[in-house]
Amino acid sequence: MSNIVVIGSSSIDLVVSAKRRPNAGETIIGESFKTVPGGKGANQAVAASRLGAQVYMVGCVGDDNFGKVILENFKQNEVIIDYVEPVTGVESGTAHITLAEGDNSIVVVKGANNYVSPEYVSKAKNVLEAADIVLIQQEIPEETVEFVADICKELGVPLLLNPAPARMISHSIIEKVTYLTPNEHEATILFKDMEIENVLKKFPNKLFITEGVRGVRYHNGEKEMLIPTFKVEAVDTTGAGDTFNAAFAVALAEGQSMEDCVRFANRAASLSVTKFGAQGGMPSRAEVEGGLK
Ligand code: ADP
Repeated sequence: MSNIVVIGSSSIDLVVSAKRRPNAGETIIGESFKTVPGGKGANQAVAASRLGAQVYMVGCVGDDNFGKVILENFKQNEVIIDYVEPVTGVESGTAHITLAEGDNSIVVVKGANNYVSPEYVSKAKNVLEAADIVLIQQEIPEETVEFVADICKELGVPLLLNPAPARMISHSIIEKVTYLTPNEHEATILFKDMEIENVLKKFPNKLFITEGVRGVRYHNGEKEMLIPTFKVEAVDTTGAGDTFNAAFAVALAEGQSMEDCVRFANRAASLSVTKFGAQGGMPSRAEVEGGLK
């Protein structure tokens, strides 16, 4: 069983469906409302656990009801929560999601996720040391990402940075991480003024750009690769990237070939968009393997 540590956010997603997005100052009547567990860190931890890895989550929740729901959801998905602590007097992270016209728009309020500091992460150093791979995203403080990049390098543990949500990061971090998985939008922010072809070539087997329904692009050291995803009936694409990253980490930890890792992750991510909610469609190992041709 591979051993994965996820350092990141956990939140509650407040999801509204509407025929269209309201304009500024406008009120419209929506169609439905749901409350579901989310946060990029938690989503990736749950997805990796469903795919058969042993997963440690390192994160913070608020001391509110949402925090209890988040912890219960980790337990149900067999994610180890020895390093998930409630922060006194702080609200849990929330994501306010509008689903309209076949796409999502999201406002994230970080809440307790702001407390995932370098000092906090240091407490989990022993599990980091034992990890096959560490997975991190950007819904926690920027200095924590830098700290984790340093500590993983020092410990010799591979680090996968999913640079989402988009923000500029220092190129020293990019140098230190083992794998970097922006979507197209995040890639243009990270590498603005550079031709994507050149950037892919500069970071062979390290930079993987997810391109939604088209699949994933990377450079394998010899040539640029485009690994297509699988054709599915998309219901809700929230969490596609999270499922991709988790599945990619699981396959990498198992030592699969690079192309197989991307294919496995595409398969898991494509299955995830066929059901509602970030975590709702995250497949089990059997579902991914059952569907692989
Ligand atoms: P994000 O969710 O972070 O914006 P993408 O939209 O690039 O990231 O999606 C991540 C991955 O999820 C894609 O590379 C692909 O494997 C899969 N995926 C996303 N949307 C679809 C879709 N409509 N059909 C099949 N696979 C999809």
